Amino acid sequence: MLPIVICPDCGQQAEMDQVLTAQSNQNVIYICPSCSCVIRNIETNKG
Ligand SMILES: [Zn+2]
Repeated sequence: MLPIVICPDCGQQAEMDQVLTAQSNQNVIYICPSCSCVIRNIETNKG
């Protein structure tokens, strides 16, 4: 079971592994599969 992320814009739920993309600078961005919004520095449970 992967953690679920809920899009703050449209409320779509998706597995974290499918919607979070790690950047080379270690930032993480969220790309919603439903509304295609992009959110930087979304909170995760990491660390
Ligand atoms: Zn969305």
